[in-house]
Amino acid sequence: MSTSPPSTRPVLLVTGGGRGIGAAVARLGAAQGYDILLTYRSDAARAEATAAAARAAGATVLALQADVAEAEGRARCFAELDARFGRLDALVNNAGITGPTGRLDETPDAVWEEVLRTNVLGLVACSREAIRRMSTRHGGRGGAMVNISSRASGLGGGGEWVHYAASKGAVDTLTLGLAKELAGEGIRVNAVNPGLIDTEIHATAGMPDRVTRMAGGVPMGRGGSAEEVAEAVLWLLSPASGYVTGALLPVSGGR
Ligand code: NDP
Repeated sequence: MSTSPPSTRPVLLVTGGGRGIGAAVARLGAAQGYDILLTYRSDAARAEATAAAARAAGATVLALQADVAEAEGRARCFAELDARFGRLDALVNNAGITGPTGRLDETPDAVWEEVLRTNVLGLVACSREAIRRMSTRHGGRGGAMVNISSRASGLGGGGEWVHYAASKGAVDTLTLGLAKELAGEGIRVNAVNPGLIDTEIHATAGMPDRVTRMAGGVPMGRGGSAEEVAEAVLWLLSPASGYVTGALLPVSGGR
C-alpha cells in the first residue's frame, strides 16, 4: 500500500456510496470540495461509475470494496483512508440493509443478526475509527458525522419490519448520545431520517413498485430523490450548520 501526501481538500468517507443515497452524497460532496472515499459491498461496477462521476468535479475519489459488517472490511477501509488521503473531516454512515419483511414470530435470528451487524454494529465501529482520527481529544482537527437513519425508526415502528425499525431506532439513539459525548471534542453528530426515497433498496427487498404504490400516503404526494437527501446531508456536514448537533432531520415530504 503506497502512502500519498495528505489531501489538501477536506476528506469525506461515505459508507455504501456505490449507488442510491450514498452515491448522491459522494457526487454532491465532490462538487462541494471534498475528496471522497466511498465504500461498497458487492457492486464494483456501480461504485466505479459513481467514483468516475464524482471525479468530474475535480475531486480525488476512491471506490473501495469494504463490507461495514465485517471487521476485515472496516480495517481495510481505514487503512486505505490513512494511506491514500491522510486525513478525515467527515463521515456519512450510510450503508444499510432492510432484510425481508415478516412478522417477528416468523423471522429467524439470522435476519436480525445481519440487519443489526450492518445497520448498527457497522455504524458503531466506523464511528469509533472516525472519532480516533477527528476528535481533538486524539489530536484531530474535529469534523462532522451524519448517520442515515429512517422515518421507519424509533417512533415510526415499522410493522412487519421491526428488525429494520429497531436498527434505525438504535441509530437515532446513538446519534443523540454521540452528539453529547463529542460536542466538546470538535465533532458534530446528526442524523437524516429519509422517508420514501426512490432507490433500489425497495427492489432489493422484493418490492420494486413500493415508491409508486406508497407515494399517495406522503403529504407531498411523491417519493423523494437520493439527491434531495444528499442536500440535507451536505448541509449538516457544512459550517452552515455549525451550531447543529444531535438533530434527527426528517427528509420525508411531510410523512
Ligand atoms: P441502496 O440499496 O440503493 O444502496 C445501498 C448501498 O449500500 C449500496 O451501494 C450497497 O452496496 C451498500 N451496502 C449495503 N450493505 C453494505 C455493507 N455491509 N457494507 C458496505 N456497503 C453496503 O439503498 P439506499 O440508498 O436507499 O439506502 C441508503 C441508506 O438510506 C440505508 O441506510 C437505508 O436504510 C436508508 N434509507 C433509505 C430509504 C429509502 O426509501 N430508500 C428510506 C429510509 C432510510 P452494494 O450495492 O455493493 O451491495
